[in-house]
Amino acid sequence: MSAKTNLLNFDRTQMEAFFLGLGEKKFRAHQMMKWIYHHGVTDFELMTDFGKVLRAKMQDQVEILAPSVLHEQIAVDGTTKWLIGLPGGNAIETVYIPEPSRGTLCVSSQIGCGLNCTFCSTGTQGFNRNLQTAEIIGQVWLAAQRLQHQATQRRITNVVMMGMGEPLLNFDSVVAAMNLMRDDYGFGLANKRVTLSTAGMVPKIDELNKVCDVSLAVSLHAPNDTLRNELVPLNKKYPIKDLLAACQRYVANRPRATVTFEYTMLKGINDKPEHARELAKILRAVPSKLNLIPFNPFPGTRYERSDPATIEHFQTVLMHAGYVTTVRRTRGDDIDAACGQLVGKVQDRTRRQAEHLKHLENAALVRTELGLSP
Ligand code: SAH
Repeated sequence: MSAKTNLLNFDRTQMEAFFLGLGEKKFRAHQMMKWIYHHGVTDFELMTDFGKVLRAKMQDQVEILAPSVLHEQIAVDGTTKWLIGLPGGNAIETVYIPEPSRGTLCVSSQIGCGLNCTFCSTGTQGFNRNLQTAEIIGQVWLAAQRLQHQATQRRITNVVMMGMGEPLLNFDSVVAAMNLMRDDYGFGLANKRVTLSTAGMVPKIDELNKVCDVSLAVSLHAPNDTLRNELVPLNKKYPIKDLLAACQRYVANRPRATVTFEYTMLKGINDKPEHARELAKILRAVPSKLNLIPFNPFPGTRYERSDPATIEHFQTVLMHAGYVTTVRRTRGDDIDAACGQLVGKVQDRTRRQAEHLKHLENAALVRTELGLSP
């Protein structure tokens, strides 16, 4: 690894501190951010509003280094998946989902995940490490560059932290990256167009509430603790009542905000009409929207996708109870870009078993630290 500081690791405050430390004025930080995020320029020699001496100093001390694209796949529906290479032979995936009125980028926050939700394929991979800010915002930077060069010239209007990993377990780097997504000198997205999705890290939801104004999504998947304990092991630490209380505190701070509850539809497990009714009851106190996700199967899973008619009925029950309820269309099916399928596949084939075992051990450690094991 290079010893140079990567400027993609800095949000605005950190970038300002960096330039002040060089004896420069604050506005240099803003110029630098505009070069990187507005113009996509990473070569110091092209930064014409910096003097020669300053350019040489930067060349010497710092770098602007986004991760590299190993592979790009474009599905028939336009969904684009990038396999992104990281130091040490690791890979993560970033997915772009075009819709008529918007373009959503789904970004990863960790390599693997330690939470081991039973219906998610990322969990089977274990946990390697947290991504750095540069590796998180680098996904957006790369995608923006790539999309600009496609014939369709699509744009990123929304970012969702719904790729691999639990973003609230990589708090500081994720917050810095989300700051850059929303900064006028960064990608300039409106607060509500950046969404963080969590499996339910209650204390971290409260911390986020204090420091960062983004939309909140919560992976609920069950209307009671018995079932949720089974699907989302983290629920044993932070049960539904505590989770919903944190959601209430989050929206109480933000006029007109709602929490989006994600609910993966698992055949015969959580998809009965009584589950929908129970859900309608427990969510009453939180301004909520519901997003039903038809389960995406992966090799070795014990679950199946609920039937379309079952999903439709579930949706109807919730809508009659007054909840805006959408069913997520499965996108990019032909390239395995759907939720829960983001396992660095290329790498899986080549990865030595020992390394996989190490990542499973890391994941067990994450759970022990959370007080969850065994
Ligand atoms: N760890 C965070 C971010 C991941 S978001 C979280 O849990 O919210 C990815 C979303 O897809 C989550 O709601 C997750 O529960 C859901 N998901 C995971 N595996 C899935 C699968 N196989 N089919 C459908 N949805 C899945």
